[in-house]
Amino acid sequence: MSTAVLDHLQLADAPLLPVVGQELAAPLIQGGHVRYANLDYAASAPAIEEVASHLNEVLPYYASVHRGAGFASQVSTSVYENARKIVANFVGARDDDTVIFTRNTTDSLNLLAGCVESLLKQRGYAEGRSNVHGEVLYLDIEHHANLLPWQALPHRSVVAASSIASTLARVETQLRAGNVLLLAVTGASNVTGEVLPVAELAALAHRYGARIVVDAAQLAPHRRINLFDTGIDYVAFSGHKLYAPFGAGVLVGRSDWLDAGHPHLAGGGAVKDVRLESIIWAQGPARHEGGTPNVLGAATLAKAATVLSALDADDWHNHEQSLRAHLVAGLNEVDGVTVHSLFEDADTYPECGSIGVVNFSVTGYDAGLVAAYLSAEHGVGVRDGKFCAHPLLNRLGLPAGSLRASFGVGSQLEDARRLIAGIQALLRDGLGWDYVVDAGRWVPVNDNRSYPQWAPNTPGTAGAAPCSTD
Ligand code: PMP
Repeated sequence: MSTAVLDHLQLADAPLLPVVGQELAAPLIQGGHVRYANLDYAASAPAIEEVASHLNEVLPYYASVHRGAGFASQVSTSVYENARKIVANFVGARDDDTVIFTRNTTDSLNLLAGCVESLLKQRGYAEGRSNVHGEVLYLDIEHHANLLPWQALPHRSVVAASSIASTLARVETQLRAGNVLLLAVTGASNVTGEVLPVAELAALAHRYGARIVVDAAQLAPHRRINLFDTGIDYVAFSGHKLYAPFGAGVLVGRSDWLDAGHPHLAGGGAVKDVRLESIIWAQGPARHEGGTPNVLGAATLAKAATVLSALDADDWHNHEQSLRAHLVAGLNEVDGVTVHSLFEDADTYPECGSIGVVNFSVTGYDAGLVAAYLSAEHGVGVRDGKFCAHPLLNRLGLPAGSLRASFGVGSQLEDARRLIAGIQALLRDGLGWDYVVDAGRWVPVNDNRSYPQWAPNTPGTAGAAPCSTD
């Protein structure tokens, strides 16, 4: 980002919106507490306060959805079905698009993959019918959620180039070669935060007879999405990254493939009629939403969508871009820090730029050790590892992973400053405590920081879950 652009951005010295946990106190390994600097929004974002209040508002009415004649049940059903409409508006869905509530983005993309599998069977793809498009094309920068479901189907991958322009050319070459049914791309990289030109990619896919699904897990919390305007066929995202951490995700898109797919969760609610020997499956969202739906997850996701839609676009943009610019500039000034990016034209390519994610490494220090140090000695939370994007991290020459700082509407300049100060102190003074690797994670030795009494994990072993290196 140029200095001229930086000058135009107002300092984000206060959160744009209040979020729950804003003043959380984090214990330090050397004693005392500091305000927790949450720079891990891209993994899971805190609840917007208005979203959490809405949860409390809905909770007294919590009852079964679609299954009861009682008053609370009717209110819950209305809340759930209205959430579908709000989400449809949030993504600018077409009138005949289907909105399906799922658990998260991973679930949504697996659901779509199941539909594609059914479609290929129905169209006789396995029998080698030559006129049937059957492959899924994806980039090598994808999160595993937008990669593993497609690997179980006929597929092809494209290695992203060092510019967006050349990446598009590579995608076009693959599309021109024919046979692509679906282009699966991320809206924004969860590793570097760089945004892909999804409208252009949609037009490209359509030009060659393919459809497009956008993994908007990272894009939706930062940018407006419009299926109608961009032509995107399917979009998937998660409530927990959209400031609604209550267990719901969504898949929105064209109904024909969704209605042709084998039900994602066979069970109650997904059927019109069941005999012992035969089933008539429901159409529409019900087909894939078997079992009791997550009404609170859907209601809060919809509330978050409403709150984000009401944000002034310039304020939102300024807030995140100012934080990003300061973080990138501050880290770049530290000798021994490398900030990673994918595309040399990310800032100049139309409709691209970057969301609130900054990826970096510190020379001489394991990423996991830096993350443990920032948490223990500075009360700063970042993510380290390979970000569920192994092909990309390996290609970038970072097989041991890197660090990711991410932020959003509840973040403020002080969070960025605390991270920069922590890294400066590390390179100037070294570690202030001893750390060991325990079950694959770096942890401080003799970690005596206490958790709330209702969270019984013993400090120092709770981080042992190997997923953080994913
Ligand atoms: N895609 C991207 C780009 C992501 O960042 C993530 C989460 N890290 C996912 C998909 C998966 O999301 P979830 O864990 O909510 O299913």
